[in-house]
Amino acid sequence: MARSAGEAPAILVLNAGSSSLKFALYRLHDARRWHVRTRGQVEGLGTAPRLIARDGDGSLLADERLEPRVSGILDALDALAGLLAAKLDGERLLGVGHRVVHGGTRFAGPTVVTPEVLAQLRALEPLAPLHQPHNLDAIEAALARMPGIPQVACFDTSFHRDLPPVAKLVPLPEELRRQGLQRYGFHGLSYEYIAGALAGVAPQIAAGRVIIAHLGSGASLCAMRGGRSVDSTLGFTALDGLCMGTRPGSLDPGIVLYLFQGLGMPAAAVEDLLYRRSGLLGISGVSSDMRELLGSDAPAARLAVDYFVYRVTREIGALTAVLGGLDGLVFTAGIGENSAVIRERVCHASAWLGLALDREANAQGGPRITRAESPVPAWVIPTDEERVIARHTARLLGLTEAA
Ligand code: ADP
Repeated sequence: MARSAGEAPAILVLNAGSSSLKFALYRLHDARRWHVRTRGQVEGLGTAPRLIARDGDGSLLADERLEPRVSGILDALDALAGLLAAKLDGERLLGVGHRVVHGGTRFAGPTVVTPEVLAQLRALEPLAPLHQPHNLDAIEAALARMPGIPQVACFDTSFHRDLPPVAKLVPLPEELRRQGLQRYGFHGLSYEYIAGALAGVAPQIAAGRVIIAHLGSGASLCAMRGGRSVDSTLGFTALDGLCMGTRPGSLDPGIVLYLFQGLGMPAAAVEDLLYRRSGLLGISGVSSDMRELLGSDAPAARLAVDYFVYRVTREIGALTAVLGGLDGLVFTAGIGENSAVIRERVCHASAWLGLALDREANAQGGPRITRAESPVPAWVIPTDEERVIARHTARLLGLTEAA
């Protein structure tokens, strides 16, 4: 990532997970718009590491097996730096934007990361153990490898920061609430992108009462009024609400007490159960992956899919009540964008709301998947969290951004 005068300004976006580092490099085009120069991921960290990257137009730029010693985020970043140095030129990196799942009460918006900020974000790791440690490892690695280049944290919680007091409330005594016990909501970078994209496709609907269904390995719904979040199915942590790949979603808290008191499970085992062994995986006993479950005839796999659809349908009803009606529904993320079957089942179960599915449009992936006469329209809109991160990073660093 060499720098010299006269090169095009660029922003790198990093989204680090437990076994992958997703990236996207944006380049400033005609002094106004940020265009994707390359995007991809270093995947299989710790098992069979591989680097895959595509150009802005989608053509394959690299697909390489990496040495097994490439096992951590720092190694992944080095592999990425090697790719950028070899394949790209004419870019001058001005900042790096990171996805960070939890901003807590202190970080309401994008923030330049200093060692002090990093320490404060580390303190939130117990609230998002699947994501936060990896997100912060990426920031630490980038600080070490790119001294002098600002690292910007963009939070999944920020989009929900203005939830009404009742939606934010955790009904526990005040001395506990004062310590930050409140509902935050997550997937905010995705919801922010969809809110903007929907305003482009259907401005009148976007100005009204909309539910966005972000259905991926993590899953949640967001109720929006006028493009702003008014409630979400995720809460203090990313365990609440819908059934997810390995997380149960809403659970009677008495069950957690029973795990401790009745079964004598240690805290680490309960954490492992709730974050890594429940949800679709726990119900089916075979997989956390929706595609695999849909392809299986096993009764337990079918039950997992039934429960997933049941919870999505139930929570759509609940959030419609919060909104006082529904003007539009949007599906996004891995399952929402790719599974016509799940969309069809959710729309049929929610037909009472005025959703009349267009089966052909749904089979083709939309974008609009309801019939012209449907009182409530539904869309499929692919999410793009990286673009939102690039936009925030550019703004915070005082670089131009029009889109
Ligand atoms: P994350 O980014 O949180 O890892 P994704 O948004 O990529 O998750 O979603 C992953 C989920 O999407 C997996 O359960 C996967 O099976 C599911 N998925 C992807 N494609 C399809 C498909 N064609 N049909 C059903 N599910 C799919």
